[in-house]
Amino acid sequence: MRGTLIDGVALAKKIRLRVAEEAAALTAQGTTPGLTVVLVGDDPASAVYVRAKGRASEEAGIRSDTIRLPASTPEHELLALIDRLNADRAVHGILVQMPLPRHIDADVVIRRLDPEKDVDGFHPVNVGLLCAGSKEGFAPCTPAGVMAMLRAYGVETRGAHVVVLGRSNIVGKPMASLLMQAGPDADATVTVCHSRTRDLAEHVRRADIVIAAVGRPHMVTADMVKPGAVVIDVGINRVNDPAAPKGYRLVGDVDFENVKDVASLITPVPGGVGPMTIAMLLQNTVRAAFRALG
Ligand code: NDP
Repeated sequence: MRGTLIDGVALAKKIRLRVAEEAAALTAQGTTPGLTVVLVGDDPASAVYVRAKGRASEEAGIRSDTIRLPASTPEHELLALIDRLNADRAVHGILVQMPLPRHIDADVVIRRLDPEKDVDGFHPVNVGLLCAGSKEGFAPCTPAGVMAMLRAYGVETRGAHVVVLGRSNIVGKPMASLLMQAGPDADATVTVCHSRTRDLAEHVRRADIVIAAVGRPHMVTADMVKPGAVVIDVGINRVNDPAAPKGYRLVGDVDFENVKDVASLITPVPGGVGPMTIAMLLQNTVRAAFRALG
């Protein structure tokens, strides 16, 4: 292997320890940070994510509540719950686990959140602040986690050409926004590719840093990567594997086995971006609690 592995587990642990210290300091002042996660329906992958978030919160000294609602919950009931959580002073962060059942409009739900409690960073106020280059809002956890990784591993983004694969509101768009901000931690030249991009491989070949957030197993192959490029794999895909205990295994959007020989730095899946996403959620929650203190 030529490339160095970016250890998301170790880095996330370090961040979680720091967050735990901040949470303890807040608790000592009489305010225990609180995160409420709302899970509607019984999507098994969502249930796994929600459990992981709850566990990580508790470990960091953040009070964590999970409210589970049946898939048949009407939209107005979910909105009424959000109103109650917005008004609850013990709740500093609210996370509505996506995807929501089809009869509920996710945009309406996100807009109902108090932006000060929107620790996922999806509310239009937080999206707008991010686009405007302000650090006052909450940045979405996955792209914020990628930025923290790049910083921790000393990756120079200033003037670098970054190709982001994917333009979702959760990953691709905010990722591009963060990278193109003016400032020493960003200052990148960003190309965003999506399903309508022509000659995608050509764009990727010119990248100093590749960030894949597409949801297609092994889409980024070694011939698409410039030697020495940094490769960040956000993708989490289940592929069938009869030899695995669960009958499937998780792989990223990058053909890790081959790309690792070309890249200078690369994230594994699992153990790369995933743990960082949770660490950033905890960090945002503690920040929300600090801000609630005034
Ligand atoms: P979405 O499905 O919302 O977005 C996927 C994006 O990839 C879209 O912009 C889509 O283009 C683009 N795309 C799809 N197929 C192709 C293709 N063949 N060529 C080029 N572009 C393509 O996914 P998310 O952004 O929510 O998630 C992306 C991946 O990251 C998933 O695997 C998800 O599981 C994972 N993920 C991981 C997280 C973590 O913590 N590690 C957190 C969040 C997501 P278009 O817009 O044109 O449809």
